[in-house]
Amino acid sequence: MISLDDLPLRADLVGEEPYGAPQLDVPVVLNVNENPYPPSPAIRQEMAAAIVNAAGTLNRYPDREARALRADLAAYLGHGVTADQVWAANGSNEIMSHLLTAFGGPGRKVLTFAPTYSMYPEYARNTCTEYVTVPRRDDYTLDAELILGAIAEHQPTVVLITTPNNPTGTTVPLEVIDEVCANTDAIVVADEAYQEFSSRPSALELLAKHPRLVVSRTMSKAFALAGGRVGYLAATPAIVDACRIVRLPYHLSAQTQAVARVALAHADELLAQVRALTAEARGFEAWARTHGYAVVDSGANFSLIGRFPDRHQVWQALLDRGILIRETGPAGFLRVSAGTPAEMASLKEALTDLEPERQ
Ligand code: PMP
Repeated sequence: MISLDDLPLRADLVGEEPYGAPQLDVPVVLNVNENPYPPSPAIRQEMAAAIVNAAGTLNRYPDREARALRADLAAYLGHGVTADQVWAANGSNEIMSHLLTAFGGPGRKVLTFAPTYSMYPEYARNTCTEYVTVPRRDDYTLDAELILGAIAEHQPTVVLITTPNNPTGTTVPLEVIDEVCANTDAIVVADEAYQEFSSRPSALELLAKHPRLVVSRTMSKAFALAGGRVGYLAATPAIVDACRIVRLPYHLSAQTQAVARVALAHADELLAQVRALTAEARGFEAWARTHGYAVVDSGANFSLIGRFPDRHQVWQALLDRGILIRETGPAGFLRVSAGTPAEMASLKEALTDLEPERQ
């Protein structure tokens, strides 16, 4: 049998592994910042009906421009955003790929602030964009001085400001994004995958002022639609046009568009758990603090706690108890997604059991 080593793989991909957190069938899954609440039976029925309807024309290609979906997304975003300012794709993963394909590429750089989302270097690699990452402040925050200093030093064409940031949960004040946009010609992407969980205002407020600002969002987290694969951005129509040049034709399937539109029609119901999940995360952090853990201030539906002398051992011990969390972020820290009250209770109980091992 032929192996990968025998194939003419691109030189920069040799030795690379496919990205992905473990997908394990265990009782408590708190490792990829999903929403633990599935759509209600009524919404599921409506999604099924929408797919039956879409199936009636599956012999035809779907709407390449996803016009109806983009109009629904614009209505959801508000802030005066119109459909021609919205672009949609298969998860915000694909949105980022479109942006880096259009604005990155050979000889260009994308700038991020570590620690941050572990997928960013992969988008950069795939689009042959140089990946530059600059450390955050010691408390993982970002300010305009740090960001603008890094831009001056590295001259990126794309800057990714993740707020709330994954894996730290740290948020970036609007004034910082405002000041950065006012002082650079780079495309500034505010990755707001977790924005609905945050109490800070969205960078959508700055769109009218800064034509090179992009706000990236996803339906995977707050909307509880990770399996539906829908991400989107809001920006000036010229940026949307750039994405339209690089997208694969018909990239969003008819089923995806149909399901996403049903979800958006039920935004209130699907987003109803956002407050509960935020409370769950903040409650877990309060508990962790009283138990002597270091906790990073988070504005998202997940928490970063430490310091574990051997975090892998704790991760494994939790897995042995049927609880899957994420081994990511700064050394000695573990990331926990907010689950249901019962799931969080199991986690706290397991951590309490393991406490003697922490000494
Ligand atoms: N951005 C950030 C900061 C994320 O944490 C994630 C998912 N973990 C994504 C983007 C991508 O999400 P999706 O492709 O599901 O929209």
